[in-house]
Amino acid sequence: MHRIATTLHEKTRIVVKIGTNLLTDKLSGLNHDRINSLARGVSHIQSLGYHVAVVSSGAIGAGVAARGLKERPMTMPEKQATAAIGQPILMEAYEAAFRTQAITVGQILLTKDDFVNRARYLNARNTLAVLFENRVVPIINENDTVAVEEIKLGDNDNLSAMVANLVEADLLIILSDIDGFYSDDPSHNRHAELIPIVETITPRIEKQAKKSGGGLGTGGMMTKIQAAKLCTSAGIAMIIANGSNPRVLQEIVSGECRGTLFLPATHRLNVKKRWIGFVSHPRGSVRIDEGAKAALTNHRKSLLPSGILEVTGVFNEKDTISVLDVTGNEIARGVSGYSSAELAMIRGRKTDDVETILGRRAHGEVIHKDNLVLLSK
Ligand code: ADP
Repeated sequence: MHRIATTLHEKTRIVVKIGTNLLTDKLSGLNHDRINSLARGVSHIQSLGYHVAVVSSGAIGAGVAARGLKERPMTMPEKQATAAIGQPILMEAYEAAFRTQAITVGQILLTKDDFVNRARYLNARNTLAVLFENRVVPIINENDTVAVEEIKLGDNDNLSAMVANLVEADLLIILSDIDGFYSDDPSHNRHAELIPIVETITPRIEKQAKKSGGGLGTGGMMTKIQAAKLCTSAGIAMIIANGSNPRVLQEIVSGECRGTLFLPATHRLNVKKRWIGFVSHPRGSVRIDEGAKAALTNHRKSLLPSGILEVTGVFNEKDTISVLDVTGNEIARGVSGYSSAELAMIRGRKTDDVETILGRRAHGEVIHKDNLVLLSK
């Protein structure tokens, strides 16, 4: 049996995401045994000195059972009403399960705005830090009752990766109804094989990740691979393992678990860089030449006006922008030192000429290296 071993240190923050299929039964509501074993697992890893946050789906599932519905609701208001009914039932189940482990839980409901708006992002981060210091386990879910389609993060796989980023976690554990990531969806292909370690998320890996094979799950492996991309490029390891095993968390921290480990592509980034690279929305882009690309990717230099070929979009100084290579692939994101109008004037020009062209005092870099995040391929 393959074992996944990760190097964890004291104060390591671990985010555990638990999927709908594991938590809810089609119509009978929440699976309390599973919530109890999750609480035991979290208690075990907390006793080793790690901080743990849980990202949990299941509000709609719990609401469906409470309302005695035969099907999951289809319309947005019905879904949101069902989530409003189910969320406290879900929390009650967590509260009871963790109380038997002498652990207090706290509820955090997030929307996309809480990540995109930097002030709210830092605020959420500070709240979570206080909960961690007090050994409280935050139970996090998307705020389904207020989030309309346009402002939704959509699925809890991506939410859990954003949370792992927000709390500067070292590890995200995604518990699903399957042992890990396979070469193909095992519910359709019985020759599919478990892939124990993914070092780089190649286009092939992305192709192998299919949607959910059935049940109540939503994103399947596709959203889990998106989550893995986000985590690994921010320097966070990710594990997919089978949450039907009641001792899965204990086995993961002792390196005895079967599953898939996604290795981080870089060292952990600081909070500002995480926000620039993975949370804020680019307002525009610059396309750069090969020389500038090499300076950024091989020599970790700042981006200068001389390497810029083209400016797209309308943005202000200090907005986040995408950096594209000659072929249009996004290779980095960063905070622009200039507006799009100014960049259009100085693109391709020497740094020394910038002040003369703009008629004002200006620093040389278009994106300073401290405000630049390279995206892994
Ligand atoms: P959860 O609620 O745990 O997020 P999902 O149903 O969304 O569960 O995702 C897990 C499902 O993804 C698996 O049960 C499987 O049917 C499907 N799947 C698609 N492609 C793959 C793959 N390459 N490896 C493993 N599972 C896959």
